[in-house]
Amino acid sequence: MSLACYLDGMTSQKRDVSLSIGDHSFIILSNDSSLATLATWSYPKIFVKEDWTDGLGGTFGHKDNPDASLIIYQKQLFERIRKRLRQRHQASFIIPVHYRHLLLMAICAVGVGFILFPAIRYISNWVTYLVPKSFEIRLSDLLIEELKTEFKPCNDPKALADLQKITKRLSAATGIKDTVPEIYLFHSTSPNAFSLPGNRIAILSGFLNDSTSENEIAGVMAHEMGHMVKRDSLQAFIESQGVRVIISLISSSNSYGDLAEFASFMQTMDYSRQKEFAADAYGASLLVKAGYSPQGLSSFLSKIDKEEQSDFLGSYSQYLEFLSTHPDTKERIKRIQIYAQKSRITSTNSLTKDQFLELKNACLSLPKR
Ligand SMILES: [Zn+2]
Repeated sequence: MSLACYLDGMTSQKRDVSLSIGDHSFIILSNDSSLATLATWSYPKIFVKEDWTDGLGGTFGHKDNPDASLIIYQKQLFERIRKRLRQRHQASFIIPVHYRHLLLMAICAVGVGFILFPAIRYISNWVTYLVPKSFEIRLSDLLIEELKTEFKPCNDPKALADLQKITKRLSAATGIKDTVPEIYLFHSTSPNAFSLPGNRIAILSGFLNDSTSENEIAGVMAHEMGHMVKRDSLQAFIESQGVRVIISLISSSNSYGDLAEFASFMQTMDYSRQKEFAADAYGASLLVKAGYSPQGLSSFLSKIDKEEQSDFLGSYSQYLEFLSTHPDTKERIKRIQIYAQKSRITSTNSLTKDQFLELKNACLSLPKR
């Protein structure tokens, strides 16, 4: 399924397209093998033609070509572009001028940054490990604030305590200190969970509501902990914001780049195929060490994979973090199942049946958005 369709306003042809989103404009690319550039739309020229009330997406128009339309079939992508229209002048850099040497270093960083920009993807791996913990936490705090603008936090101490029982067990199996993730729970029908910088995991309640066993919850948590210990989300942030992060680090400024965009990106996180397989492999081995079967992770993936095929627009599941579009989901399921069969482990639960049912139904009582 394509996320977007483009009508050029001259012919009646409706084309499946991909978008390459930049700071000042986005490029509309044909989805066929030619990947031809069909148009470049700059944000000041774009307006919202339709905002579908069911929150599934909408249509953008272009002031110079009012008959052209770009139809977006996904709420997150639609909102991501709309935020760009509102925030064209975000992310100004605050450089403390009274620290002359810092200013100089920042200028150097910009210079180096320009040279390194194409290589940022390659250097982000080691830059990730140079980032001080305090920066990561500040960044994570800001991202959580950003998520709160989209989702209502679910303050259910029982659910959080039960989730912690599971994550503590997984954390003990990592053999690494301080790996119990801090959980942030939000109301949403979307079955999603994603790791944030600073050893934090955000869970949207739809994920708990859709789960059928403690083992499935543990499976997805273990996958996210795989991203967490490798600091994948921080690395993705550095890759997406590049030079801005280096300047922030040097100048101690509060300029972190486009947080709104990154918060939305996290939910549909496009980690590489390699990173997804690595998080699955780490998660599967963690599950076994903690006394859970990896079957829970593969069964949750299979369930959403089926939903994705049966539900064209009603499901965002194709774009969930742990079901990223990049890696072949079926291949992931197959690999986890092979590992599960080899390990021959039967899960032991930390929660009673009633406790699990309570956790499954957590955050249902408050209004969702
Ligand atoms: Zn993942």
